[in-house]
Amino acid sequence: MSDGDTGRRRAELAEALRQVRERIDRACAAAGRPPEEVELLAVTKTFPAEDAALLADLGVVDLAENRDQEARAKVEKFSELRPRSGVRWHMVGQLQRNKARSVARWADVVESVDSGRLAETLRRAVANALDAGERSDPLDVLLQVNLDQRTDRGGCAPEDLPELAEIVTRMCEIRLRGVMAVAPLGEDPNVAFATLSEISERLRRDFPDALHLSAGMSADLESAIAHGATRVRVGTALLGGRRLVSP
Ligand SMILES: *Cc1c(COP(=O)(O)O)cnc(C)c1O
Repeated sequence: MSDGDTGRRRAELAEALRQVRERIDRACAAAGRPPEEVELLAVTKTFPAEDAALLADLGVVDLAENRDQEARAKVEKFSELRPRSGVRWHMVGQLQRNKARSVARWADVVESVDSGRLAETLRRAVANALDAGERSDPLDVLLQVNLDQRTDRGGCAPEDLPELAEIVTRMCEIRLRGVMAVAPLGEDPNVAFATLSEISERLRRDFPDALHLSAGMSADLESAIAHGATRVRVGTALLGGRRLVSP
């Protein structure tokens, strides 16, 4: 990109970020919650590492991807562009176990853990990465809950959550931090997020470290915040429409 293009893109992202932060602030005010309670996760899938770098310059500290292959290359490029940025990379997409080895090298957080087998594979991958000096910290994870029994867009059934949480808390290479969910398509997100909020509260009673509730995207972040989300995952409203699905 030329300097002019970069400047234009920076201004565009700054304005979109201002608007998203304003939406978060307003939703927090409406819910009587302090805005510091809600983290903004910028979902950079399908957008280049340069955009991620500009967002980091603008103060975004949490970035997310949904596919290992795309993320791996982007995170590498990003670390060349902003070697000391201190951003945290989140994996939010469905994760095949054969990608665990790679994800353990670049992700600070995996939000899509939905089975004991996946947790165990990740645990081993993180242990290897720690041994090899490819990462320095354990992996924070969220358990993904499926709120839509009709489809399989990832996530464990709500009734299986306590058992999965029990498995994960026994592992020291990965740390249980909360739950994540996507509102079912074509349904009132308020209904889904109310259910999710109960699920999250119930889990926290037995697992006090499971503090985070990752819910809400560009279209429904207000509803998620009203129902206790501590993290919203925003792509389109920050970066613009995605012309292509992730490669
Ligand atoms: C793409 C994606 C988002 C962001 O969605 P937008 O509607 O673009 O804000 C959030 N969460 C997950 C899991 C995603 O895959």
